[in-house]
Amino acid sequence: MQGLGELNELYEQIILDHYRNPRNTDLLESPEADVEANNPFCGDEVRIQLLTDGGRVTSVSVSGRGCAISQSSASLLSSIMQGKTLAELQETVERMRHLMKGEELPDEDLESLGDLEALGGVRKFPVRVKCALLASSALEDALEELERKRQAE
Ligand code: ZN
Repeated sequence: MQGLGELNELYEQIILDHYRNPRNTDLLESPEADVEANNPFCGDEVRIQLLTDGGRVTSVSVSGRGCAISQSSASLLSSIMQGKTLAELQETVERMRHLMKGEELPDEDLESLGDLEALGGVRKFPVRVKCALLASSALEDALEELERKRQAE
């Protein structure tokens, strides 16, 4: 993969696997939140749909198109969202930002990110950080949409 020659090999495998075989891409029929985010620098697009029950995610769809980093981060994110509370997802968004800034994360925070940790190596390529964070910012928009709907009820 171009420009990623310095990435640790295991991390690169995880990223390529999720890029080639993205998880949870089937669109939901009646999502509670449905948002899209774009990264104009790279032409990346990510769409996130969510359904919740009792404050937890019961269905998730994450799809899009663009570079390997943006699409693998979307797939990686989708694979840890199921069953999470909205507060936990907000924490995930913040931990991803810390990870991509190169800040030290406590082990338990890092563990909660699962294979998303693989994207940490991308911070060596500042141009790609936006790609790696696109799905997280889409998730944040989706959480805001859920919050707005909840308040309108
Ligand atoms: Zn990109």
